[in-house]
Amino acid sequence: MRAFACHGTDMIVTIDKNGALTVPPDLVSAVGLSPGDKVSIETSGDKILLSTITSTQLPDTSEIISGSFSEAIKKKNLQTGVQFIRGIGPKLAVLLEKRDIKTIEDLLYLLPLRYEDRRELIPISHLRAGQTSVFSGKILSADSATTKGGRRVFEVVVGDDSGSITFKWFHANAVWMKRTWTLGRIGIFSGEISQFGFQREVHHPDVEWLKDGCDLKSVLDSDPANFGKIVPVYPLTEGLHQKTMRRIMKEVLDNFLNNIESAIPADVLPAEFPTLKIALNHVHWPPPDANLIDFNGGKTPSHRAMAFDEFFYWELGLALKKRGVALEKGIAFQVTHRYTKELVRLLPFELTAAQRKVLSEIKIDMMSPHPMHRLVQGDVGSGKTLVALMAALVAVENGYQVAFMAPTEILAEQHWHTIHRWCSQMDIEVILVTASLKGKARKDLLERIADGKAQIVVGTHSVIQEKIEFSNLGLGIIDEQHRFGVLQRGILKKKGANPDILVMTATPIPRTLAMTLFGDLSLSVIDELPPGRIPVETKLYFESRRGRVYDMIRGEAKQGHQSFIIYPLVEETEKSDLRAASQMAEHLGSDIFSSLRVGLLHGRMDPDEKERVMSSFKNRELDILVSTTVIEVGIDIPNATLMVIEHAERFGLSQLHQLRGRVGRGSIKSQCILLTSGKLSEDGEKRLRVMESTTDGFRIAEADLEIRGPGDFLGTRQAGMPDFRVANILRDGSVLEQARQAAFTLIDKDPELSAACNKPLYAELMRRWEKRLELATIG
Ligand code: ADP
Ligand code: MG
Repeated sequence: MRAFACHGTDMIVTIDKNGALTVPPDLVSAVGLSPGDKVSIETSGDKILLSTITSTQLPDTSEIISGSFSEAIKKKNLQTGVQFIRGIGPKLAVLLEKRDIKTIEDLLYLLPLRYEDRRELIPISHLRAGQTSVFSGKILSADSATTKGGRRVFEVVVGDDSGSITFKWFHANAVWMKRTWTLGRIGIFSGEISQFGFQREVHHPDVEWLKDGCDLKSVLDSDPANFGKIVPVYPLTEGLHQKTMRRIMKEVLDNFLNNIESAIPADVLPAEFPTLKIALNHVHWPPPDANLIDFNGGKTPSHRAMAFDEFFYWELGLALKKRGVALEKGIAFQVTHRYTKELVRLLPFELTAAQRKVLSEIKIDMMSPHPMHRLVQGDVGSGKTLVALMAALVAVENGYQVAFMAPTEILAEQHWHTIHRWCSQMDIEVILVTASLKGKARKDLLERIADGKAQIVVGTHSVIQEKIEFSNLGLGIIDEQHRFGVLQRGILKKKGANPDILVMTATPIPRTLAMTLFGDLSLSVIDELPPGRIPVETKLYFESRRGRVYDMIRGEAKQGHQSFIIYPLVEETEKSDLRAASQMAEHLGSDIFSSLRVGLLHGRMDPDEKERVMSSFKNRELDILVSTTVIEVGIDIPNATLMVIEHAERFGLSQLHQLRGRVGRGSIKSQCILLTSGKLSEDGEKRLRVMESTTDGFRIAEADLEIRGPGDFLGTRQAGMPDFRVANILRDGSVLEQARQAAFTLIDKDPELSAACNKPLYAELMRRWEKRLELATIG
């Protein structure tokens, strides 16, 4: 028994006057049926499922006809499988699938990696170093050779009437190369020209061979897909050739381009952008007068139009979601000041103006009858915990419970300590949920949460595990949001009856990224540090100055201050020369700092052990804490004044900034040393120098984003980063703003996209957001 999907329109199923269904013979054989077979038909919504019947099994509903049936019949559906395209057989379909290309739409959005100017061939004598050029020539010699450095290379000399040039391959199979690169053969070559002394070379050029007996001119004229214009260069997989891709793309564009119609209302589209149809055509086949640099940089109006299209749907979803939340019924807290005033009285310092401003934004949200969804950004040390605690007190004043989630056990413990210290003075019960809690103690704790006695519950994601039930959760606080996914936010919400949600992050997220990731949240920024902080001085040291660094550590210890030494790994692996934390702790403790107290902290220790080490460092029973990045976020030890980061080049800038934020938290001048092996790339050094030059988290985040790209910046998927196919939030930041504006304006006018003219838009939005979480709750 098998079900089959009817995608393309080549496969039209007709219903005649009497209601009989006629299926074309092609389709019948394609799905392995023969005339006379019985087929069951089922409807679900606007989808129709056809499947063959066997006596024992029910129809398999795993594969259903995609898209609306009537729509699929009316026009060529972009969700049609690639195998229905002329020229794509099963083998090619498999190759394409390796690149995740399954439908026509996937193909259309597979943009060229770059473009090559083949408008004219350049005489070999005119080839210039640094340019990527296309030229033709005849093979004059081809053989293996050895470079002065002793490397084996395969060398080919190619010439035309004007001159000659050398091709080189490293690691090539000489036997195979000799068979292909035969003397006298003529080809069209392309590649980047480089110059070594007097010799011009191309390393690993691309080639298109001329068929025997063909002359160049006739090839150029007869193969318009590959020559005589600017041609696209697509990403490939093994076995998939550039020429094949170009042929397929041409087929797709010829057949489907006319069906492409954007559902975005014309009055919303910025006037300077071409239609989606034109844009798609251009990005695959640049017009003859195209500016190659813009095309290669993805900066043409066509590229931007496609980016707009992607951003727009994303932002439209966020706008709807934000509006949906705004309409949901939530808790309208009252600010009684009972505990908040009391805490302010207890604190040994005043709240900063920035803390007060953010707090009032939070209070306004909490007082409204709709749920709060607010993101608080604040650099390391700006005092977010306190702001969160104040918000928690508002909830507690109203008789509600608060869940406070931190990304690591250590941080959860620290938050618990801080919060408990203040709350115990006001008779508020704060409990800590840890993974190590077992048996009766655990059972008691869960009971206290379930019956509402526990007023503030602190923990890691363990706070949202199934077993934990709150009696009346009113506020969920998530610290260091970037560590948690959208999913966790959703689960937290379900632990109560639409509780308010406050998320906090110390990773200053550049505006464009914040808009993309958290566009459905309201944003508050604590843009001021508590007074009296002295900026941490940062220096990049190479391995040769290790001794000096050790002296600095001794010096700090002499003054009663403490130091961190951070390592990227926990244990040394055979292959790597990393000085892993555990080995180094031992070595440092016994050989280098024998008179000092050295502790070790890493992720594989059990929570009790970690807790012990952390508290002894906090209590100044250790001079040096050797640690991996488990220490990374939030740890607050004002007496620690020196942060040494080994293999600093292995960390992201934002992570370094976080690590550095572990010192300089008191009123003592602190330092951060970035130690590196010295084998730094130019980019690598540039990156680390950014750390030397600024302590501004936002600047660092911008630089980090620029250097690493949005993907690595946050560890994408987990953080809910959408996978844009064309758009790039760095390059297309201004387009993102336009798209956001347009989307939010549209939702203002038609809040539920229910106007008749917006129906297609709504349908397309749902299709694109299909796999995204939570949107289902809107509308
Ligand atoms: P982060 O924003 O990095 O989470 P914390 O909330 O851990 O920062 O606060 C860092 C330190 O600053 C803590 O020791 C906290 O007690 C202190 N702090 C918070 N607010 C103030 C303030 N208004 N004045 C002085 N110190 C403050
Ligand atoms: Mg914090």
